Amino acid sequence: MLLRFARVTSLEPSGETIRVGLRIGDEEDAQDETIEARCVINAAGLFADEVAAMLGNHSWRIYPVRGEYCEVRGPRSTLINNLVYPLPHADGLSLLHFLVLQRAKTKTKQQTKHRKQARVDHNTS
Ligand SMILES: Cc1cc2nc3c(=O)[nH]c(=O)nc-3n(C[C@H](O)[C@H](O)[C@H](O)COP(=O)(O)OP(=O)(O)OC[C@H]3O[C@@H](n4cnc5c(N)ncnc54)[C@H](O)[C@@H]3O)c2cc1C
Repeated sequence: MLLRFARVTSLEPSGETIRVGLRIGDEEDAQDETIEARCVINAAGLFADEVAAMLGNHSWRIYPVRGEYCEVRGPRSTLINNLVYPLPHADGLSLLHFLVLQRAKTKTKQQTKHRKQARVDHNTS
């Protein structure tokens, strides 16, 4: 079963299952439903701490941080060779996924050439 526009509003252990409270649909005409699940996977992104808390786990919290990327160009471009991020929050862990960085660092000359050509094509079209 796949439900779209369904917000988990409560999680309650019930024997071998978990009762999942849902609010389905837009706020104006939302319907409340409950389903029983044998397994719940918490994939709520930035809200994963709130969902975990519904089952009583308050041991961690997400502190979202918004940032902007800046690129150093010109003669000083070699001063910074990696992405720079804020230090982990004093209260807990920090987690960043940056496959993009690894891929960028291992870019082949051929890929760089294609990218440059793509930019030229874009700018001249
Ligand atoms: C502006 C921006 C730019 C980014 N750029 C990059 C990039 O270039 N490269 C990169 O690797 N990463 C990037 N990221 C990070 C990337 O988007 C996240 O790391 C990734 O989307 C996390 O995936 P996720 O599945 O854990 O969570 P999400 O993609 O956030 O999915 C969580 C889902 O859970 C749903 N949800 C939340 N609470 C509930 C609830 N109570 N009930 C039901 N559903 C709920 C949300 O609606 C959402 O659909 C960017 C993020 C932002 C905000």
